[in-house]
Amino acid sequence: MSMPQAWRLAARTAAMRPSAVRDILKVTQQSRVLSLAGGLPSPDSFPIEALAEASRRLWLERGASALQYAASEGWPALRQWVAQRLSAHGVPVAPEQVLITSGSQQGLDLLGKVLIEPGQPVLVEQPSYLGALQSFAPYQPAWHTWATDAEGPLPDGLRAGHRLAYLVPSYQNPSARCVSSQRRRALALRAAAVGVPVVEDDPYGELWYEQAPPPPLFTHAPDDVVLLGSWSKVLAPGLRLGHLVCPASRLDDVGARLLQARQGADLHSSSLGQALVCSLLEQGFDLDAHLAGVRQRYRAQRDALHQALLRHLPPGWQWQVPAGGMFFWLQGPATLDAAALLPQALNAGVAFVPGEAFGVPGQVASALRSCMRLSFVTLSPDQLDEAVRRLASCLPGAA
Ligand code: PMP
Repeated sequence: MSMPQAWRLAARTAAMRPSAVRDILKVTQQSRVLSLAGGLPSPDSFPIEALAEASRRLWLERGASALQYAASEGWPALRQWVAQRLSAHGVPVAPEQVLITSGSQQGLDLLGKVLIEPGQPVLVEQPSYLGALQSFAPYQPAWHTWATDAEGPLPDGLRAGHRLAYLVPSYQNPSARCVSSQRRRALALRAAAVGVPVVEDDPYGELWYEQAPPPPLFTHAPDDVVLLGSWSKVLAPGLRLGHLVCPASRLDDVGARLLQARQGADLHSSSLGQALVCSLLEQGFDLDAHLAGVRQRYRAQRDALHQALLRHLPPGWQWQVPAGGMFFWLQGPATLDAAALLPQALNAGVAFVPGEAFGVPGQVASALRSCMRLSFVTLSPDQLDEAVRRLASCLPGAA
């Protein structure tokens, strides 16, 4: 059989990269591997009965609109609900500022499309959420890495000329770091002073296990920060629903372009998903009580993984117990190559994500090579213990 002629791909595709997490996910979904890799919310946390009731009412009360095209901005009731909830949490937002997105991942892509110019600098942390790097990469930025200390990224890393600066201030993926209150304020004020748009990605802010995180950067500089949120970690990721909050003062230019970019991508988020969430909220679903349950569950899983690490890992490993989010960030001995260890680990029946997957394209910091990310939200406490036992069995020097 003759091979068809290769198609010429756009130059921007050269900057695209695979997602290490999604590749590992494919392997682990088909096998007996215990996965510490993906940040898959615990299926036991999904409020399936409440959703079943909401879905029954949905068909009776708004079946036609759930199946119809909808406004690109999102369902008005949902935009209003998001604005009210943020405002009640001390983040004053009007419904007009809220764009309902198909997951916060879409918000990242839209921001890349609207703000990034090829060859121009974009500021990101290292390690960074690899899905954000994946979203921004096709827009061909010049990557700048953000110097960081224990409180978070340094304000003077923000310089005039950065097309955008991206951070996850609360329980970062993968490092679990939470930026301090003072640092948030300093970062926000600096962004306003140098005129750099900050993308504040906050899917984990509600997943705190000791105390709620400090207020978002957005509260300190509402003209300079775009705030992203998600239903994925608080309700269910399969809904593919998130939101983007645009500064009120920028709705006519940035907001309008973001809306046009989203129209080109998917017209609007699924009407069915939005209808389902609206019906759920209308029937009096107590999101705060639900979240309290999720926190309790994840706190126990976090503690179980911490105990398993203490029990099974040899000396030379370091980690901090995360105060929120879904992940442990492990620092192995300096000589460890976590990516090289992964095939052995999969053979032993456990998966993790090697640290280098979270590195900035073309400039992966060597310190990342000895790190790995472990998720504690998917497996039960017993499975977490067994997973770490398997991991420890393939580490250099194991008996
Ligand atoms: N941002 C961060 C930091 C994430 O960890 C994730 C999901 N892993 C996303 C955004 C995307 O989430 P969503 O499901 O809302 O698209």
